Amino acid sequence: MAPLKRIVIVGGGTAGWMTAAALARLAGAGTTVTLVESEEIGTVGVGEATIPSLLDFNRYLGIDEDAFVRATGATFKLGIEFVGWGKAGGRYMHPFGTFGRDAAGIKFHQIWRRQAGLQAPLNDVGSLEDYCLAAVAARLGRFNRPTGDPAAVLSSLRYAFHFDAGLYAQFLRHLAEEGGVRRVEGRVTQVDLAPDNGFIDAIVLADGRRIEGDLFIDCSGFRALLLGDALGVPFVSWQKWLPCDRALAVPSTSSGAPVPYTRATTTEAGWRWRIPLQHRVGNGHVYCSAYMTDEAAADALLAGLDTLATSEPRQLRFTAGVREHLWERNCVAIGLAGGFLEPLESTSIHLIQSGITRLMSLFPDSGHAPIERDKYNRMLRRDYEQIRDFIILHYHANGRIDGDFWQQCRDTPPPDALVERLALWRERGRAMPEPGQLFSEDGWIAVLMGQIGLPQSYDPLVATLPPEEAARFLQHLRGVIGQTAAAMPAHDQFIASHCARP
Ligand code: FAD
Repeated sequence: MAPLKRIVIVGGGTAGWMTAAALARLAGAGTTVTLVESEEIGTVGVGEATIPSLLDFNRYLGIDEDAFVRATGATFKLGIEFVGWGKAGGRYMHPFGTFGRDAAGIKFHQIWRRQAGLQAPLNDVGSLEDYCLAAVAARLGRFNRPTGDPAAVLSSLRYAFHFDAGLYAQFLRHLAEEGGVRRVEGRVTQVDLAPDNGFIDAIVLADGRRIEGDLFIDCSGFRALLLGDALGVPFVSWQKWLPCDRALAVPSTSSGAPVPYTRATTTEAGWRWRIPLQHRVGNGHVYCSAYMTDEAAADALLAGLDTLATSEPRQLRFTAGVREHLWERNCVAIGLAGGFLEPLESTSIHLIQSGITRLMSLFPDSGHAPIERDKYNRMLRRDYEQIRDFIILHYHANGRIDGDFWQQCRDTPPPDALVERLALWRERGRAMPEPGQLFSEDGWIAVLMGQIGLPQSYDPLVATLPPEEAARFLQHLRGVIGQTAAAMPAHDQFIASHCARP
């Protein structure tokens, strides 16, 4: 079997340019990588919050982090603050990092849970968040990069970015073009399939140009021009669990010192996001059109701004779900062309990355082995479903007492895998990791604790730790974490001295 000679990417949004930058290393040596995009159609133009895995992608591309932060107006992100999800008015943080330190093979939060239920003064343990450096630093508005020394508390910190996704795409375009990717401006109006096997032969542009290829990557956004329209792969809707179907997005003026976390605040029939960049704040409202009018959604969005809107809100419509499979014949869909999950846990750009890295690890040759395609499809489906369940957890286990929307979310039975997870948590605070899951056990613990609250009981192995000894251990850890966070630079100072926008 021969290596593929012609790779064609349709779409120049975040998905298209991330894919192009990653595939640029294949360009040359007999292979061409062509990206077709249409300025007339434009991109979705939102997508500002990320999760820590993006650091791996940037490292893979050899990107200098300070240069990237400067170019994209980025800030650092230590987690997501959820407001009004668990109990009306309550808040919790899903921080990037670990809670405390496990002892004698027992998960830290189990020890904390046992102590919290003891008599005073042994129950003076504060909140679980007090034991996570990312959560404490976020609360104080501080940031530093983690050290590589596993003995230091600072090594437990993880971080991601808030950035302008349009500027990120431009940044990657530069890298990709430098690496040999050819960019073609034009609108795809036709997709030609081979009569014998139905593979895509070529795409045809509005001006008649025909671009042939051996592998086509569909990054055409919600349109899914190749995988959906041309190859007819059906869309599987997850709307029954995730009923929100619209969003309004609006930028507002900078808030001065940006906080190092995203905020997600519930509304009557959805939630608002607040994402601080260096030069502006990104705001939006994800809502369910069956329970809220567009006017009411816009009012709730604008009323919740804490700085001045700099344009009119822009509306986006979507359905949560994924294509039945993401690789069909010689076409792989990456980004919105493959599926959509609302940005509650900032996972869309991660799913692009996951599509790219899994494609690189199962890269086809001219034989297009079905076994590799099937493996890819199973892996991607699992990625989507695990993230879907994590997002459903927030909705299903909501504690809002007002409104039919929230009641409907509570009443809808969750997927089976989530049912088991919920039961394991409620019983004894178990948040067992699943193979290959994106969010760590600590991430699940944060959200389960925030949405559901304390489990009824705890791991029986905690009984092997004397309560007095455990109390000293917790007190020490809390002190060290508090001191480490307080000694970190203020987030805005860190940016000013390393990577401020010119
Ligand atoms: P698009 O940006 O839509 O790009 C599609 C490309 O295809 C464009 O270049 C377009 O010109 C081209 N194209 C389409 N049709 C044709 C044609 N006929 N001919 C030629 N070219 C064509 N993700 C996160 O990770 N974090 C977030 O905080 C986040 N927030 C979001 C909020 C909302 C409301 C929405 C809707 C999405 C959010 N996302 C977020 C997702 C994120 O925006 C997308 O995953 C990301 O931008 C990738 O989009 P894309 O490149 O797949 O599609």
